[in-house]
Amino acid sequence: MNCESCGSFIPDGQSFCSNCGAKAPVIIEPARPIYQQNDSGKDYSESVEIPMPKKYSVNYIARAGLILGIVSVVAVYIPFTNIVPAILSIIFSLVGLKKVDERGGRGNCIAGFILSGIGIVLFILTVIFAIIRETQG
Ligand SMILES: [Zn+2]
Repeated sequence: MNCESCGSFIPDGQSFCSNCGAKAPVIIEPARPIYQQNDSGKDYSESVEIPMPKKYSVNYIARAGLILGIVSVVAVYIPFTNIVPAILSIIFSLVGLKKVDERGGRGNCIAGFILSGIGIVLFILTVIFAIIRETQG
């Protein structure tokens, strides 16, 4: 079996990883039904590896991307500032997307992209309106 923490090989019977010191995966010997024990002399003591329950984890980077996306849309009321959270949202959503397999949060990333896209469109519109207003005196 291999260490769940660092992936290095742990010999059977050893309860701790010699590389990183993590606890070895639990091996439980299944109970042997009586009728199987002596009919062929075969050994049924095949060990079964019990997988550890998956740790609950949150993709905080993807969540930050989503929150920054929301901020980039809401901040349109403060002229010319929402481009900052919009760009940050894209960066966080991109980084968060790389961790989706491990930590989930794909929806947060997608929402982050959509909201930051809206934020950028709103930013461009406020700039255009400001230019029109300036040129019309
Ligand atoms: Zn290890």
